[in-house]
Amino acid sequence: MKSKTEPGTVYLVGAGPGDPELLTVKAHRLLGQAEVVLHDDLVPAEILALAGPQAEVVNVGKRCGAKGITQAEINARMIESARRGFDVVRLKSGDPGIFGRLAEEIDALEDAGVPFEVVPGITAGIGAAAALGVSLTDRRMSSRVIVVTGHHARTSEQKKPDWKNLAREDATLVIYMPGRDFAGLRAELLAAGLGADTPAVIVSRATTPQQLHQRTTLGEIDKLPRMESPAILLIGRSLERARRESNAQDASLDQVELILSSL
Ligand code: SAH
Repeated sequence: MKSKTEPGTVYLVGAGPGDPELLTVKAHRLLGQAEVVLHDDLVPAEILALAGPQAEVVNVGKRCGAKGITQAEINARMIESARRGFDVVRLKSGDPGIFGRLAEEIDALEDAGVPFEVVPGITAGIGAAAALGVSLTDRRMSSRVIVVTGHHARTSEQKKPDWKNLAREDATLVIYMPGRDFAGLRAELLAAGLGADTPAVIVSRATTPQQLHQRTTLGEIDKLPRMESPAILLIGRSLERARRESNAQDASLDQVELILSSL
């Protein structure tokens, strides 16, 4: 804890996709030192356990944490703790700058004059690709990676992804919060010119012991069974390898049905 006049620092830290070993050394160190840890729902208990005994650990997740907490309240909490002289770790799943409302938190900290630092993490799409043993770019077929959110998480002001310009044969699409309207997505991507045989893989709980994945093609994505969240959808020729051989556990339909019935 700093002196009363000196504010603490807010570290906006990526916790990675789930496997505690995928934390950065810096994230690990900061977690051990922080006096306040404000984390999102998706950060697993194994990672929170790395916080030091001095830390106050608070779930500020919007789903399972403090019920009905708003982004403004999270910002206020970070600022208040730092002003009291505490070093704060604001812990977000994956990388804080990928669909993590990082920009809004930075704006609030800057406006309040609170010192902060961003600590990157391994984002879910990168973690999922690694777990499948695939490369998101491949100089033989895929020269770009496109990171988008599906239908699920968009607010009414946000526009639908412009699939016509995004969906290209030489791109790998990494779709966060893919939602469930896979029939709609299939229709849009086929209309944008992608082949029905384009490989697609959905990965649930990537990099955790509960990881499951299901491989298919774009033409069949509407038949994918529901996977436990968080799940991410990867589409593109670079996933070809995941179709043939994979070092990840394969979700048989039976397993998926089992998960469904236990929900
Ligand atoms: N900042 C995070 C993304 C937050 S948005 C990151 O960089 O990964 C939350 C979405 O991320 C989930 O709905 C899901 O689509 C994806 N996600 C996060 N963790 C995941 C995991 N372990 N496996 C699969 N998808 C994951």
